[in-house]
Amino acid sequence: MDQAIWSRVRNQGLLKNVSNGMESVWINEGLEDAPKALAEIPLSMKDIDDAEARLARFAPFIRKVFPETENNNGLIESPLVEIPSMKECLEKEYTTTISGRLFLKLDSNLPISGSVKARGGIYEVLKHAEDLALEHGMVKTTDDYSVFASDEFKSFFGGFKIQVGSTGNLGMSIGIMSAVLGFHVIVHMSADAKQWKKDLLRQRGAEVVEYADDYSKAVEVGRENSDADPKSYFVDDENSQTLFLGYAVAGKRVKAQFEEQGIKIDADHPLFVYIPCGVGGAPGGVAFGFKQIFGDNAHIFFTEPTEVPCMLIGMASGLHSEVSVQDFGLSGKTDADGLAVGRPSGFVGSVMEHLLSGILTFEDYHIYDLMRDIVKSEDLFLEPSACASFWGPVQLDRTDEMKQYIKDMNLTDKMQNAIHLPWATGGSLVPAEIREEYMNTYLK
Ligand SMILES: *Cc1c(COP(=O)(O)O)cnc(C)c1O
Repeated sequence: MDQAIWSRVRNQGLLKNVSNGMESVWINEGLEDAPKALAEIPLSMKDIDDAEARLARFAPFIRKVFPETENNNGLIESPLVEIPSMKECLEKEYTTTISGRLFLKLDSNLPISGSVKARGGIYEVLKHAEDLALEHGMVKTTDDYSVFASDEFKSFFGGFKIQVGSTGNLGMSIGIMSAVLGFHVIVHMSADAKQWKKDLLRQRGAEVVEYADDYSKAVEVGRENSDADPKSYFVDDENSQTLFLGYAVAGKRVKAQFEEQGIKIDADHPLFVYIPCGVGGAPGGVAFGFKQIFGDNAHIFFTEPTEVPCMLIGMASGLHSEVSVQDFGLSGKTDADGLAVGRPSGFVGSVMEHLLSGILTFEDYHIYDLMRDIVKSEDLFLEPSACASFWGPVQLDRTDEMKQYIKDMNLTDKMQNAIHLPWATGGSLVPAEIREEYMNTYLK
């Protein structure tokens, strides 16, 4: 690495290990009390409420064009389930104990696009459509938004483009929703993107441009093309506050689900959330929503592949989007396609600076083993990237850093009441033959 950069890097010991591809845990030395940390951030609960209200306005439209959302009145939401058999399975397979109860947030089963991106991605498309419609005097915010499904609106949106760069799932969410509204949508897909996702998008009416390069290249070209066209809107995964707020609504939704199930989160019942991280937008937005709702009783950890720990190198070094995993000598290659992002979002890194508890990294072979574990124990299918969420509960009692965190937070005698919530970020749309292929993949 460039010496001038290295001299500015914090946590050099840890980052040496990370650059050698070792599984690591970074505990955030910058973690602060939630009220203080949240006060420093330019986004607030009011912004999340605003996003939630916008999604509610669009519910009649969503219900109309996506009948699978009918039983949830047009809200795009996923189940929250307890997974006791998986807990037993993990404890046995990894010779550990997971104190407390293990739940799973099934964003793998979110309607429309089957991944966590159905939160932020779809929200940003809806917001853009609303902005255009308001600007052109086609609706008032008090109208019934099922008019967005009309031919008149469709042909209006046909005069506009939406573009996005993606490793796959974001493109699916943006592509499907934009096409349904009538936009000309162009998805710039990185080399990591799976063929079936490109096929599905084309079939839904999106234009797909393929790149031999990684995600950063797809984003760069997408942004350039879009900026050159005044009728084109670019969804900026690296910096978008709109995407971020779409994800953040999850905190309020989960609070309601916990209440329905009689689950208490307080100082005696700490909540641990574990989220697979790519560029940072989805896990960052969800984390922000949870810290707003549950404050210091929520402990949020991200998980990343050892070869692509972009948020870890950005946050632990203190240099955020100034550095990429390649700067640390890592390949940037992973089987976790949803996490294949080499440079973190600087925006998310700065918002997470005093809110995130830490980041754990895993070798790729674990995610296939964990996928087989969840299929076997609970009969739930998740895509490999999503199974990275289980790496948190697995490592909680197996690493000195995590054990020390529990002590430092004075949680030792609270852990028997803990609620663990790995975030299943995707999977329901994976075709049967690809599932079969994944189930038979052994990297070690
Ligand atoms: C996109 C994605 C993530 C991570 O989201 P980022 O916003 O890129 O950090 C995690 N899991 C899956 C399945 C994804 O598609």
